[in-house]
Amino acid sequence: MSPALQPHFDTVLARNPGEVEFHQAVAEVLGSLAPVVERHPEYVDQAIIERICEPERQLIFRVPWVDDQGQMQINRGFRVEFNSALGPYKGGLRFHPSVYLGIVKFLGFEQIFKNSLTGMPIGGGKGGSDFDPRGRSDAEIMRFCQSFMTELYRHLGEHTDVPAGDIGVGGREIGYLFGQYKRITNRYESGVLTGKGIAWGGSLVRTEATGYGTVMFAQSMLGAQGKDLDGRRVTVSGSGNVATYAIAKAQQLGADVVAFSDSSGYVVDEAGVDLALLREVKEVQRGRVADYVEQRPGARLVTSGSIWDVPTEVALPCATQNELDESDAKQLVVNGLLAVAEGANMPATPNAVALMREAGVLFGPGKAANAGGVATSALEMQQNASRDAWSFDYTEDRLQQIMTGIHDTCVATAEEYGAPGDYVLGANIAGFIKVADAMLALGVI
Ligand code: GLU
Repeated sequence: MSPALQPHFDTVLARNPGEVEFHQAVAEVLGSLAPVVERHPEYVDQAIIERICEPERQLIFRVPWVDDQGQMQINRGFRVEFNSALGPYKGGLRFHPSVYLGIVKFLGFEQIFKNSLTGMPIGGGKGGSDFDPRGRSDAEIMRFCQSFMTELYRHLGEHTDVPAGDIGVGGREIGYLFGQYKRITNRYESGVLTGKGIAWGGSLVRTEATGYGTVMFAQSMLGAQGKDLDGRRVTVSGSGNVATYAIAKAQQLGADVVAFSDSSGYVVDEAGVDLALLREVKEVQRGRVADYVEQRPGARLVTSGSIWDVPTEVALPCATQNELDESDAKQLVVNGLLAVAEGANMPATPNAVALMREAGVLFGPGKAANAGGVATSALEMQQNASRDAWSFDYTEDRLQQIMTGIHDTCVATAEEYGAPGDYVLGANIAGFIKVADAMLALGVI
């Protein structure tokens, strides 16, 4: 890290003890900014670096609820309103037992630059809870969501802070959260949440957008090299919303998707993933990947090792943070890996990223490659603000334009800063400069 930035990183470490994922996300961005602060010392002099690493507001609250056995349960809720220089705080809610302040801050920090890259007027934020939705009934999920919103509503608003989904929060949870917000405020304020159902203010393509966008980004990276996805072997980790629609779009573009996973193991399906069956298992049966294998002759479940042992040309990590480490990266490179696009947030560890970049693999970092989800959330907000509803094709075209735009911005920025083809540098610098300039313009706030 450059000497101009190191003291600020040291401050982040000292001020946020134990929040290792947040440290990792900050190091990743600051690691790209040396040439920027050299050209623009005002970003250091005006304390932009210090300010951008310190959330504007951090909320932690108790979420009490009663389970189906009549037992009281207490969870912890979070919302980190990180940066509103470009627009209202925008970012998802994650319900997962691993959630604590360090995870929410890493995600919120990433979101600032990702949202900036989309070109849409949205700031960065993130939230969630250590609530574990697995094995909970619909009624329990509803009571939890209602209790969560009973505290959070006072901090939200279409011009203030606009949550959406993330791991553990999909259409069902957004419905319960929106219902409670509407009830408490007595306002049908569609623009306060995104990822809503189509009948009640949602946008077509939002469900598909993160996975679709990730594959569009991979296709753009390959396209810049005169290649494409047609006929290529693709591996997608995860089997949730992002993975499902990454598989769908990759198949539409002619790729052979041969593997996916969940926390219990990975599935190899050499005949090509049966997307209709996967959706039935995940979305209707709310099952695990083992249930897919049971219903699919020829597919096999592997419960040891890593999905990244499967030889592939294009890897799409769409599960969770730090799921692809240095030894995975080594194996992927040995097996002839061409490109990676991160559908999840920070799925590759810093050493894995370094190894793949050095090996000449095309590497699309999450804040660029998975920005299609939040970009389409911004399109949902746009439809809500104008009380309009767009067609699927029109909305998908907008998503495609945004993803192409992000790709081209990364390429142009990397070139401008002397690192052609470096999507990490391009994404971090382009995302940062827009926010930093807005912060300079808005004064010391
Ligand atoms: N959770 C998603 C992300 O990581 C989407 C957030 C949103 O749509 O606001 O970008």
